[in-house]
Amino acid sequence: MKELFLADSYLKECEVEIVDIEEDKVILDRTVFYPTGGGQEHDTGVLVQGEQAFEVYQVKREKGQIVHYVKEAGKLDKGLALARIDWERRYGLMRHHTLLHVLGSVVYQKFEALCSGNQIYPDRARIDFNQFHDLTPEQLADIVSETNRLIEEDHPISYRTVSREEAENIAGLIKTMVSLLPPSVTHVRLVSIDSVDEQACGGTHVQRTGEIGRMEITDVKSKGKNNKRLEVRIIH
Ligand SMILES: [Zn+2]
Repeated sequence: MKELFLADSYLKECEVEIVDIEEDKVILDRTVFYPTGGGQEHDTGVLVQGEQAFEVYQVKREKGQIVHYVKEAGKLDKGLALARIDWERRYGLMRHHTLLHVLGSVVYQKFEALCSGNQIYPDRARIDFNQFHDLTPEQLADIVSETNRLIEEDHPISYRTVSREEAENIAGLIKTMVSLLPPSVTHVRLVSIDSVDEQACGGTHVQRTGEIGRMEITDVKSKGKNNKRLEVRIIH
């Protein structure tokens, strides 16, 4: 199955062929729908066939395939259809996802704390860091202002795919993350924010940091010893 969102995260719809239907589960030959993964929530949207639109309410990766969960899927026929995502939801996810890349880079530069997990929603996100001590209000304000400064500088975002071996030879963060991937992964997609940051990621991002908008930290939580969770959102 072609995963069109990897090449163009701004693609809102595409013609598809329905190749399999089983209860609510629909398999397509290609898709614009991002399946839950890497901390990013799945897309929602519709499959349109003839005059009827069918709601896609869940998208998951199962046994290497992207499975679309569709209401009343039994009324669909195999063959051509149109797949369209809820763009407002996706764009919120893209902006918050890209925000976490910038924020993760700022925290790593300032405190050498590594991201250990994240969760991205259309209207908010959270990111966990290891080896992160209690922060003073001044340090928190500094993280916010540095993140917003980088966003405002409007850096372009680009992609390259390299072999696993090449990725493991990149010093620092990427090497650490790539070494955790299952052995079946032979190639890695790297996402760069200009000279600011580069990391392995299969999610969807905006084209320039300026699209993210202004961010704020809404809460800081302790998650066990030396582990902190930052909750963030885009204000506008
Ligand atoms: Zn990403």
